[in-house]
Amino acid sequence: MTDTAAPAAPARKPRWTAQWKELYEEVIDTGLCTGCAGCVISCPHDVIGYDHQAGGYKPFHLEDELGPTDCIHGQKGCTTCTRACPRFRTWEAEADEHLFARTREPDEMSGIYQDVLLTRASDDYVHKMGQDGGLVSALLIWALDHGYIDAALTSYVEGDGTSWKAVPGVASTKDEVLAGAGSRYTYSANTLAIDEALERGFSKLALVGMSCQSSVPPVMWHRKVGKISKPIVFNIGLLCSKTFDDAIFPELFEAKYGLKKQDMVKMNIKGVFQIWMRNGDYHEINLKECHAWTREGCKCCPDFSAEHADISTGGIGENNDWTLTIVRTDLGREIISRMIDDGSIIARPGDEDPGAIDLMRRLSIVSRRRWPEFAEASVKVGVPPPKKKKAAAPAAEALPKEPAATTDGQAASNQAVADAQAPEGATGTAPDATAPEAPTTP
Ligand SMILES: Cc1cc2nc3c(=O)[nH]c(=O)nc-3n(C[C@H](O)[C@H](O)[C@H](O)COP(=O)(O)OP(=O)(O)OC[C@H]3O[C@@H](n4cnc5c(N)ncnc54)[C@H](O)[C@@H]3O)c2cc1C
Ligand code: SF4
Ligand code: SF4
Repeated sequence: MTDTAAPAAPARKPRWTAQWKELYEEVIDTGLCTGCAGCVISCPHDVIGYDHQAGGYKPFHLEDELGPTDCIHGQKGCTTCTRACPRFRTWEAEADEHLFARTREPDEMSGIYQDVLLTRASDDYVHKMGQDGGLVSALLIWALDHGYIDAALTSYVEGDGTSWKAVPGVASTKDEVLAGAGSRYTYSANTLAIDEALERGFSKLALVGMSCQSSVPPVMWHRKVGKISKPIVFNIGLLCSKTFDDAIFPELFEAKYGLKKQDMVKMNIKGVFQIWMRNGDYHEINLKECHAWTREGCKCCPDFSAEHADISTGGIGENNDWTLTIVRTDLGREIISRMIDDGSIIARPGDEDPGAIDLMRRLSIVSRRRWPEFAEASVKVGVPPPKKKKAAAPAAEALPKEPAATTDGQAASNQAVADAQAPEGATGTAPDATAPEAPTTP
């Protein structure tokens, strides 16, 4: 007998109906919002604003007919903001599926990747201007020169460089890339530079962004947020356990230590908050003192390792002047391979610094532990329970095998970075007397 029954139709995806109201209630009001501005740039009705001020870094609704928690366009069926949000519901699994055609395994705490390398720009000036190995700047310069991109969404310091207010901006030349090189430890929603880039006629963009921003493009692509997501073709992530509120400058650095931001020329976090001053002075501030200025948007963030970038970059490792480079996608691998082949960067196997890879994993665990229990459970799959803190561990003890048990992920995270990145030898002497000038808006 022949079975003539028709095959079962594939299950239909439920229609996406979530709008601003759900975004507000599930992400913004609960503390999951990172301030990445994905919702702001995607809104087709331009009704989502962004609060750039200290204590802010959050989206808000510009129309108030329905109050701040609802949207008239949402009521009429617009769902773009929730589809653009890389903290809304199953964002991690969706971005994984889009990029890697699978979700991460439980033990892939730092996300899915192909290779880990230690890299540095071959050009000495690019290397000097970079925070670590200058890889990010070298990547942007190379991708511009080779037609992969025509501009990058990146970050600058507002004005002449003395404000230390990190702001998003566009780089389309080598000089512009280098003007933004280095790290500022306050928040810059680089996605917001997309309007300027499109106005200037650019159509092939790199996004340089903190881990939270790196998930914006793949989430948008997966959830079919059309127009705004298409120009982003290359995604570079910066490893991150937190950013600080801008209020840290007047309230801690100046009020307690007399360090005025207009006199600062460089900063870094390597075990301590390092600050170089224009007159050559060098200062170190204990990271524990800085915790009170952790930006609100970072307190629940589960992604240390920029798990959805093409290439993720960080400064952990034995050598301060190399960039830890996590190559995730085929595009990332293609670009890195070509740059190694033509001598634009110098690369060493990541295995030469196994401690750095191990530390990345442990810091990724620490960050995942911050993701709250009420939120999407898959983000915490595989996260081991915290180990009990040892009583009165000696101060000079090496980094623990697992991050210490803590309810304050930042504390453990930064202490781990602190221990791991602490420059060998003493404190109080300037490790880099030739710190580059403060970067500025081009
Ligand atoms: C706020 C912050 C926190 C970080 N935390 C860690 C950490 O905990 N552990 C770790 O290993 N690495 C961390 N990093 C990454 C590290 O500092 C370097 O950015 C990375 O190693 C790349 O170095 P590079 O020399 O290759 O980059 P560079 O060539 O110096 O290029 C850096 C790029 O980052 C952009 N940028 C600078 N500041 C910001 C900002 N505030 N927001 C967005 N973009 C910015 C610049 O515009 C530039 O395009 C952090 C970076 C930042 C900005
Ligand atoms: S996480 Fe980003 S996209 Fe989501 S609500 Fe916050 S700013 Fe908008
Ligand atoms: S910890 Fe870093 S990646 Fe996470 S929200 Fe804060 S700035 Fe973004």
